[in-house]
Amino acid sequence: MKKHLLLISVIIFTACQQSNYNKIKDYIGTIEIVDTHEHLQIPADSNSFSVFNTVSYFASDIYSAGSPSFYDPGMNKFNADSLWKKFGRFYNYSRVTSYHEQFMNTLRILYSYDKPFLVKEDLPALYNSMIANRYRHYDKWFDEVYKKTRFKTILNDQYWNHFNTTIDTSYFSLVCNISSCVLMVNEAAENKKLASDKNLLKLMDQEVINTENLDDYLTLVDTVLTIFKNKGAVCLKNVLAYSRSIDFEDIDYETANRIFNKIGQCDKLEKKHLQDFVFHHIIRQSIKMDLPIQIHTGYLAGNSGWLDNGHPMKLLNLFIKYPKAKFILFHGGYPWTSDYVALGKQFTNVYLDLVWLPQISKTEAIRTLNEMLDAVPYNKIMWGGDVLVIDDAVGSLELGKDVVAAVLSERIDKGWMTQEVALDVARSIFRDNASAVFGLK
Ligand SMILES: [Zn+2]
Repeated sequence: MKKHLLLISVIIFTACQQSNYNKIKDYIGTIEIVDTHEHLQIPADSNSFSVFNTVSYFASDIYSAGSPSFYDPGMNKFNADSLWKKFGRFYNYSRVTSYHEQFMNTLRILYSYDKPFLVKEDLPALYNSMIANRYRHYDKWFDEVYKKTRFKTILNDQYWNHFNTTIDTSYFSLVCNISSCVLMVNEAAENKKLASDKNLLKLMDQEVINTENLDDYLTLVDTVLTIFKNKGAVCLKNVLAYSRSIDFEDIDYETANRIFNKIGQCDKLEKKHLQDFVFHHIIRQSIKMDLPIQIHTGYLAGNSGWLDNGHPMKLLNLFIKYPKAKFILFHGGYPWTSDYVALGKQFTNVYLDLVWLPQISKTEAIRTLNEMLDAVPYNKIMWGGDVLVIDDAVGSLELGKDVVAAVLSERIDKGWMTQEVALDVARSIFRDNASAVFGLK
C-alpha cells in the first residue's frame, strides 16, 4: 500500500512538473499567430526535390558537415539508395541540430512521421507525399496547413522580387524590402538612369528611369515607399547584412550630392556612403509614413557569410539619431545575443524579434529569451519563422512554441512568474505585440 502511494505521488509530482510546460504549449496552440517574417513562395523545381535537400536552412548543416553538392544536373530522378549513399552519412551527422529539429517537427505534425530522424527505408513514401503536396495541389495544401496552424497573418518578405505589391491578403501582409532601393543608388549615380531591375521598371511602369541628380533618386525612393504604403505595406525590411556591413554612417546631403554627381566610377567607400545616405533618408520617410523597419542582424544563412556584417551594435547611431523611428532587430543578433538584448532594453524605439533564432540554436534561443525577459519589457518581443515553404513554417513555429513554453514554464516552476503573466507573455510574443507594432486589425 505504501509503495502504491509512493508511486501515485511520483506520478502526480511528474505531472505537475510537466503541466506548466504543457499548459503553456496548449495555450499557445489556441493563439492566432501573427508571424512577423517568412519568405513563402510556390515551390518551383520538382526535379531537384529530394526530401531533405530543400528544407529551409537544413542543407547548410549537411554542407557544413562536409557533404558534396546537392546540385547534380545528371540526377533528376529521385532514388533513395543513391541519395542515401551520397548524403546519408552527412545527414546523420546533422540530425541533432535545431534546423533538423524544425524538419522533424514538420514531418511529425504534417506527415505523421514519428521517428526522431530519417532512415533510408522511409524516404520513398515521404517523397511521394511531399511531392504531391508541393507540386500537385499546393494551393489546397497551403490553405489547409495555414488554417490548421492557426496563422492570422504572415508578413511575407519577397526577397525574389522587392517590388511586387500584389499578394493574397487573406494569408499575407505586405512588406517593403528596401534593400534594392539602397543598393541601386550606385547604378543611378554611375549611369544617371536605372534599367537593370525589371521588377522596379514594372512597378514604375517605365522602360528606363532617369536619375539625373540625387533628388531624382530620392523622389523615386519616396514613390516606391508611397506605392507600398498605399498598397497596405505594414513595414519596411532591411536585409543589407547579406551585401555589406550594417553600419550606416551619417552622410550629409552635400557629400552625397558630390559623390552622386562625380564623373566616372565611384570607389568602394563612396558607394557605401551613398547607400548610407539613402538608408538614413528611408528612415526619415519611415517615421513620416509610420512604417516600422525590420533589420536583419547577426547570423547569415548559407555557408559562406561575411558574418560580422550584421553585428547589431553597428546600428547604435541610428537608434540615437531617430528616436521616433521603430527598429525591429531580427534573429537575436546571433551570436551577439546579449548585445541585441541590451539594445532592446536601452532604447524605446528598438523591438526584438526572435525570428529564426530557435532554428539556429534552440538552446541559445531559450537562454536569450530568458535574458530578454530579465531585461526587456515584454511588449517588445515578437516571433517569426523565416522559411521558404509552408511545411517549414509549421516546423519552425513548433520550435518557437517549444522555446517560449520552456522558458515560461521554468519561470513558473521556480516561482519567478505567475501562470497568468506567463500566458500574457506568450500571447504578446505570438500575436499582440506584432499586431500593435504593425497596426494590424
Ligand atoms: Zn528572412
